[in-house]
Amino acid sequence: MKLSRRVQQIEPSLTVAIDTRAKALKAEGADIVSLGAGEPDFDTPGPIEDAAVEAIRAHKTRYVAPDGILPLKKAICAKLGRENGLRYEPDQIVVTSGAKHAVNNAVAALVDPGDRAIVLAPHWVTYPALVKLYGGEPVVVRTSPGNGFHPVAADIERACGEGAKLLVLNSPCNPSGAVYTRDELRAVAELCVRRDLAVISDEIYEHLVYDGAEHVSIASFPGMAERTVVVNGVSKAYAMTGWRIGYTASPRELARAMARLQGQTTHHPATPCQHAALAALEGGLEPVERMRRAFERRRGLFVSELRAIPGLAVPEPEGAFYVFADVSKWTSAPDLPRRLGSSSDSGSVALCEWLLEHERLAVVPGAAFGVEHRIRFSYAASEETLLEAAQRLRRGLAAVDGILR
Ligand code: PMP
Ligand code: GLU
Repeated sequence: MKLSRRVQQIEPSLTVAIDTRAKALKAEGADIVSLGAGEPDFDTPGPIEDAAVEAIRAHKTRYVAPDGILPLKKAICAKLGRENGLRYEPDQIVVTSGAKHAVNNAVAALVDPGDRAIVLAPHWVTYPALVKLYGGEPVVVRTSPGNGFHPVAADIERACGEGAKLLVLNSPCNPSGAVYTRDELRAVAELCVRRDLAVISDEIYEHLVYDGAEHVSIASFPGMAERTVVVNGVSKAYAMTGWRIGYTASPRELARAMARLQGQTTHHPATPCQHAALAALEGGLEPVERMRRAFERRRGLFVSELRAIPGLAVPEPEGAFYVFADVSKWTSAPDLPRRLGSSSDSGSVALCEWLLEHERLAVVPGAAFGVEHRIRFSYAASEETLLEAAQRLRRGLAAVDGILR
């Protein structure tokens, strides 16, 4: 069979590939420590699981509307009002099969072949991949480590000069952990209005912020609700990654278009899972806050363990559950991939492959996020796992030092 050009150019998601490989090795009995995928290690809270079981027992197992069940769409509107100060009606909401699918729908509905979409690097793996899938051209604007990987409106504006239709934002950011400030977002919002840019605002980590950082939705600024697709979901906040429920909140016409798209593709996310998400949103933020506090403790522990490793530069993440550490001491060594026996031409990929092979430590190379000389660690893991990971990393990097000497 001859595959379409469209699928041939899709690169595999490295975050997904590393997670799948680590889980497969573990299932075979290998002693793997994985800080690869960003996935809370907690179980879904009991009342949410019970709601799904009850839905199944009540035979809520049939087709529903493509954009989701009305009680869930109403609960999402209530949540957006309560937690984000945003006003939406249920016909502006589309319930999707995870937040990743929500981004997919938004890109599909907004990007024509040849359209330019601005993505800030470091960026989640999926944004440029989806823009390319729909024939668009990702324009990557780098944010600077010196500035905590925060956005600079003037840099975005310069990229608009080349003609751009869409800006993808992600705060709190995967992988950098940057939580964009109100002033930064106001400046970006003003330029979006001035330049007539549409915005996809991925707010999936909104509740996971530390040290008093505040999550602000760009849709809350004047002139923004009418040009923004807010992407969110229950995966990260409620430890519901496998349930696959996300959603978009957008202008009505766009919501209708994305619902049409779902009607012809997935039809809708699984009905019992929608009932579980409804219970999550109606159940309040107590379990979310409990998990956030645990992530905050783990962040403190893990950052201090990593900072004790000579040569590793470790910024303190402001949000999400990733540490994006600077490994340039090793990756800037000339010819690192060849010396580590890797066929990749990326130093961060070679180093991560080596750590998996020799230390059984699964982590994600910066290259996956469009930035070299970095490794991403997910600290959504038990304290014991984090301590073991730090130990393996210390040992692994010392061994690489030996190879490079
Ligand atoms: N956006 C970002 C920034 C993410 O890190 C993830 C993680 N998977 C998602 C979206 C997708 O979430 P979901 O599992 O709900 O598809
Ligand atoms: N978002 C998580 C991560 O970045 C899960 C994997 C994925 O969906 O990309 O690791």
